[in-house]
Amino acid sequence: MNATTRRTATPRPPTATDRVYDGIYRAIVEHRLTPGARLREEELAESFAVSRTVVRQALQRLAQDQIVDLRHNRGAQVPQPGLEDAAPVFDARRVVEGEIARRLGGRLSAAQAEELRLIVEAEAQAEARGDSAAAIGLSGEFHRALARLAGNPVFVRLLDELLPTTSLLMALYKQPGRPACVAHRHQEMLQALVDAGAAGSAAEMRRHLDELERSLTPRPPPMAPLRDVFAAYREVAPMPTPGASAPAPAVSADAVASPGRRRR
Ligand SMILES: [Zn+2]
Repeated sequence: MNATTRRTATPRPPTATDRVYDGIYRAIVEHRLTPGARLREEELAESFAVSRTVVRQALQRLAQDQIVDLRHNRGAQVPQPGLEDAAPVFDARRVVEGEIARRLGGRLSAAQAEELRLIVEAEAQAEARGDSAAAIGLSGEFHRALARLAGNPVFVRLLDELLPTTSLLMALYKQPGRPACVAHRHQEMLQALVDAGAAGSAAEMRRHLDELERSLTPRPPPMAPLRDVFAAYREVAPMPTPGASAPAPAVSADAVASPGRRRR
């Protein structure tokens, strides 16, 4: 938990290993590394301009913190959680973050409220300019800041473990077009912390996490092989003359790609 500890304890100069750890952690949390991506030592060493030994140390620490999968002979990989992993993760987040919100509700200092407001504002700006990686990073930062302000460093460590898994779940199972956490929801959360007292803040946090969990849906099955997608066209002997309406394909590409989703 080196990077985690560094975020909460007395600052020390980051080592090369910290830099690689943080770079990979952020890339996963911000969805710039996709679930299942292979993390090759030599490419990482080149990207970060460090030795492979440094990369190996960083990957081992990331594996200890369950942020990457490290398998003997297969190297490191960004994990691919199943949809069935969502329930325990969100259950844990509701317990930990509901309690964090309960402790902070009605008790934020002006400086703490301002710190949170600046994160939400930066998140909204990132969303507005379409920089989803930055928006996702700031969204995680908002949740982590709440944990830090609650004053228990173990809460921060728990979130450091839960946030990457949440990000991977969102990357894999989020309904298309819906952001991971939206800035206006964090605006509402902040408002509740200021106005709604302990119980109201805890309820708002649980509502926010429920909404996130509900936005996850099973992935559509993989697209059929191309020859099956275009099978309907094979029977059509003459080419349609220009201007004449083409025969409708028996199966649209969209229906092939997501038959499961349409029924939901
Ligand atoms: Zn959120």
